[in-house]
Amino acid sequence: MKIERIELFAVRLPLKAVLTLARGASRSIEEGKRLVLLKMTGDDGTVGWGESGPSRRWSAETLESCLTSLREYLVPAVLGRDPFDIAGLHESMNRELAPMLDPGQPIAKNAIDVAAHDLVCRKLGIPLQSWFGAKRRSEVRLARLVSAETPEQAERITRDAVTEGYQGFKVKVGHWPTRDADILRAVRDAAEGGFVWPDANQGYDTEQALAMARLCAGLGITIFEQPVSVSNILGLEALRRSGLVTVVLDESVMSPAMIIDFLRRDLIEGIAVKVNKAGGLHHARQMCDIALNSGLKLIGSGLMDAPIGFVASSHLFAAYGMELPVDLNGPQFIAEDYLREPLVLERQTFCIPDRPGLGIEVDEEKVARFGLPVAA
Ligand SMILES: [Mg+2]
Repeated sequence: MKIERIELFAVRLPLKAVLTLARGASRSIEEGKRLVLLKMTGDDGTVGWGESGPSRRWSAETLESCLTSLREYLVPAVLGRDPFDIAGLHESMNRELAPMLDPGQPIAKNAIDVAAHDLVCRKLGIPLQSWFGAKRRSEVRLARLVSAETPEQAERITRDAVTEGYQGFKVKVGHWPTRDADILRAVRDAAEGGFVWPDANQGYDTEQALAMARLCAGLGITIFEQPVSVSNILGLEALRRSGLVTVVLDESVMSPAMIIDFLRRDLIEGIAVKVNKAGGLHHARQMCDIALNSGLKLIGSGLMDAPIGFVASSHLFAAYGMELPVDLNGPQFIAEDYLREPLVLERQTFCIPDRPGLGIEVDEEKVARFGLPVAA
């Protein structure tokens, strides 16, 4: 089988709320969730879909960079190749856009990786989860992302979320260090026993991170995600020595090789897996395998993924048996999408589709309706 055709569509999906990170709003309501959809067609007519959904205040990729990198370098590198050779597709892409400390524009590469997985699983007539050879769970539970400016607001958001069925709460901190302690305490108190953890997105210096780790230990919170900057290795060492909390690395580990490097240095206890930061499912599953085989805490995450990314991640996270609620928060923020049938969430639990490939159908009329006027 050969990849015969690849089409790119730049789209903007409307948002219903703004997500605030340590560096400010991840995007404005007006900007919306902008992404590149990728339709891959095999020489027998089988189709697979992928997407690149950058979050420019999380990492340096943008809609524009994804579009030009795909069009100029990545799509030409995989056209005519066998989609079943997913490792080979990555080798071809990496020859064009070299990996460095991260996999080299992974969010752009993710669109080709996920589309190839969708295509080959549709060809085989199997759900994506079966491709991983593991069905540890048949559903994923979603965590509510709490980004609040005051403890009162955090409490209100959490109480509403409990009513909506959420059992996990990821609290964005690192933006207002003086207020973060009160915000985290308010969420913990309102969560009714739900799993609560803070994510600082590199926002703290070492002293601030240690203070927050002490607070976590006092509140019975066991996980602290990406407390310090990627370059602050001494800060990570100080947190590791403190033994106060399990540090889960997100931005620090973008690839399987980086996890192994941190393991060798005894500087890692947990990882947040995001399919898009790894450049797709092929390497994200390797990150899960390393975590499972080395006893690392494993949590599922994303970048406000639209449905293709959301469902692809869900297949992987269920395959690897993620028990904690996962931070796939697209449904929390994205108001409308491009699916023929909407995603179904039952009390914030998503059941993995038992249909070939991703198990969702893209409505190309909706893709056209949300299309951005970007030069093809
Ligand atoms: Mg994170």
